[in-house]
Amino acid sequence: MDGMRNVMDPNEFLREFRKACATPVTLLRQTAQAMATEMQEGLENPGQRRLKMLPTYLECLPSGNEKGLYYAVDLGGTNFRVLRVQLGGKDGRILKQESEQVPIPHEVMTGTSKALFDFLAETIIHFISKEATLGFECLNLNQQRDIGFTFSFPVNQTKVNQGAIVAWTKGFNITDSVGEDVVEQLQSALAEMGSEHAKVACLVNDTVGTLAQCKYWNQDAMVGVILGTGTNACYVERADAVPCWSPSTKSDMTVINVEWGNFFSKNLPWTFADEGLDKDSLNPGRQEFEKMIGGMYMGEIVRRVLLKMAEETGLFGPEVPEKLTESFSLLTPHMSTMHGDDSPGLQVVGAIIAEAIGVKDTTLATRKVVYEVCDIIAERGARLSAAGIVGILKKINRCGDLMNSCLTGQSNTQAKKTVVAIDGSLYEKYTKFRNYMEDAMKEMLGDDYADNVTTMLSKDGSGVGAALLAAAMSTDQGLGVV
Ligand code: BGC
Ligand code: MG
Repeated sequence: MDGMRNVMDPNEFLREFRKACATPVTLLRQTAQAMATEMQEGLENPGQRRLKMLPTYLECLPSGNEKGLYYAVDLGGTNFRVLRVQLGGKDGRILKQESEQVPIPHEVMTGTSKALFDFLAETIIHFISKEATLGFECLNLNQQRDIGFTFSFPVNQTKVNQGAIVAWTKGFNITDSVGEDVVEQLQSALAEMGSEHAKVACLVNDTVGTLAQCKYWNQDAMVGVILGTGTNACYVERADAVPCWSPSTKSDMTVINVEWGNFFSKNLPWTFADEGLDKDSLNPGRQEFEKMIGGMYMGEIVRRVLLKMAEETGLFGPEVPEKLTESFSLLTPHMSTMHGDDSPGLQVVGAIIAEAIGVKDTTLATRKVVYEVCDIIAERGARLSAAGIVGILKKINRCGDLMNSCLTGQSNTQAKKTVVAIDGSLYEKYTKFRNYMEDAMKEMLGDDYADNVTTMLSKDGSGVGAALLAAAMSTDQGLGVV
């Protein structure tokens, strides 16, 4: 009989699980150090380490002086975005901006390369055809439109506008395009549809767009981070630290796409839920760091934990709710909404449990447990992302007085100001996630965080930033000595 089953107390389970997910500051420091070390190794051994440290071939970032009409197209998550900006130079800045987005059909995300690039080309051509609106420069039909192409997957670049897909992530899996040049595929789809005037000027990762947009306004920007469906970072690196690349002339700096989503260390608090998620994913054994942090995965981790609790502690009563057994029935937006419920009765938590898990009546005790699971997973993801950022700051020697003096025994007298540009829904919209991340930065950096290092939202950076980069390249002044 069910009533006789010797079940574990949910709160006991929760205590154990919280311990398994703990990220004390010592663990964060180890993680930051491991990240910095692996970054160095990735640079020295191109393509052979977990961190791919992909060169972007960029020798300039926006300065604010750019002028003219530029386009960006952005592929990386659930939507495809196209936008145009009219830039007015130092005083005018962004005079006008317009964008459109279309959801990417599921069958396109896992279909053929042709279907994907035809879909992108059609959307772009349609958008360009509506260019002649007030506030935008009037170009002739056959005049060239420079496009910044944001492609938020790992790409092995060979030029600033050339690069082959290394692997798909985040629910995309288009096997016949792995190893193919992304720009060429888009360019020929455009040409087939009769559009010769749309020209991809640069191919950039979304982290790079995020950094570029922030740099346009603030020259202290050195790091770009995405905390969204997936997660990743890029940063400004000295050219002589990148053995496989040398700049043409103008600059001794470039930007490196870390692809930190593929980071892993045995010190990470990896649990049964992470193990199960990884095993059932499209890319098992890859992107483990991303699977602990990304918005595509956190809700699914929460689901897996609740499922185990339903089985082992009878959290939702004697039966395991059917919907709880379905992968991705609980998503990160559900999790974030529940986690945002600070009311004493947790009514919102109850409503989401009813909607996503199909259990209509829950006790306050049950709702509290569900809230706690969301809290544990968000806190862990947020703190690990902070450790990643500090790892990059260590790599470029920008983590300020306190950490440097701890590491080297000397104090760093001229700490430079460093801005970390961040975009993505977790940072922008998931307040508790963002607060946990910022608290962890403070724990690791002490007063240097705020005094020397700041984090800042680079809203829509992945799109606008690519257009700004296309513009910067046509008025290239070099990155200079940073
Ligand atoms: C991709 C990165 C991207 C990140 C954020 C990851 O899955 O590998 O290239 O920057 O998601 O969109
Ligand atoms: Mg994006």
